[in-house]
Amino acid sequence: MEEPEEGAAAHQPQRAPKLALSLADFDLIRRLGDGSFAQVVEVRHRATGRVYALKAVDKHLVLRHKQANYIRAERALLDRLAHPGIVRLRFTFQDAASLYLGLDLCPNGELYDQIQRKGQLTLAEARFYASEIVDILAYLLEHQVVHRDLKPENLLLTADSHLRLSDFGSAKDLAAPPPPPCRDGSARGKDLHSGRRSSSLVGSADYVSPETLRNEPVGPETDLWALGCIIYQMLVGKAPFRAASEYLTFERIASGKLRVPPGVDPAAADLIKRLLRPEPAKRLGAGKRGMQELKEHAFFRGVDWQRVREQEPPALALPPPAEMGDENAEGLNWELTSMLSALPIQYSYSDSEPLLYSTQGLAEPALAPGDAALAATA
Ligand code: ADP
Ligand code: MG
Repeated sequence: MEEPEEGAAAHQPQRAPKLALSLADFDLIRRLGDGSFAQVVEVRHRATGRVYALKAVDKHLVLRHKQANYIRAERALLDRLAHPGIVRLRFTFQDAASLYLGLDLCPNGELYDQIQRKGQLTLAEARFYASEIVDILAYLLEHQVVHRDLKPENLLLTADSHLRLSDFGSAKDLAAPPPPPCRDGSARGKDLHSGRRSSSLVGSADYVSPETLRNEPVGPETDLWALGCIIYQMLVGKAPFRAASEYLTFERIASGKLRVPPGVDPAAADLIKRLLRPEPAKRLGAGKRGMQELKEHAFFRGVDWQRVREQEPPALALPPPAEMGDENAEGLNWELTSMLSALPIQYSYSDSEPLLYSTQGLAEPALAPGDAALAATA
């Protein structure tokens, strides 16, 4: 594998190579997290000793849920985006069961863990993380990408405690060629910034925007909504529309009512209310001046936006969990490799290969009624 680049070159977009690797080339160190279609494992590449986060996406599961675009989007977007606050894709490979994405390791867990462990964050801590998220969103806006699944679980902490956004499986590239026109000849909803929008229900219940719930076309304002939810959650300790069930959460989001507890700093409360406006176009940052409006809000007073990533990060709560014992690592190995034996392997590494291998001989099970909803909210 090539040396990871240093300095400015580290933030130039480039297509991550497809390599003729297999799981056998890696030591599996510890499980980092699980997602809807993927397991993420810390691995060490044996030949070079380098560590990565390896995201093993279960192709069968993805196909079963008709979410092939989920992987394509993630791959294509990660290649196109290069920002210190966005997880970098270094290489990919695949076998019959899984597609593997070799990502830069974020060894300090999720922002979610920090909120859980600390209960709630101080104003200064919340400002630090919020400013890093705003910086990332400004970059995404510039590149016409809507993440659509912005949440504390997808904001990871680097070795030096800065944030990195991961999981572009739900992201939408507004610059991609438009979908075919609607049957009635009408154009789809227009986006403020690009003239194009994305549609379809994605994201996690707590952070879903009202327009997503209404199944309306979604633009960059949807990430602003999620940002409002995250700032609230950092300061209050729980997501603003959290309820006993997803259904009740959706009801609260759709109601248009928001209550910020009285103890919250007034500038923070004002920012939260301006981000959590039911009408997407009215959210702070959705206007003509874009993210500039947001950056000038009183909550961010004192932030030097030219040097956001040079701010001193908050101390992390609790060190990351120790490496798994041998037993666990073996169990993990078995779990991943056992999937391989179930399917015929069709290796080839030409550039023209489809991202997902053909799964000839694999019947694609019909979606059960519950599955569609599952896939939709994944
Ligand atoms: P999904 O698309 O299935 O939600 P994610 O990409 O969000 O999968 O990964 C699931 C979890 O794995 C994350 O929430 C995080 O805890 C962990 N993870 C993902 N990527 C990395 C990484 N680069 N470094 C460390 N942990 C990671
Ligand atoms: Mg995720």
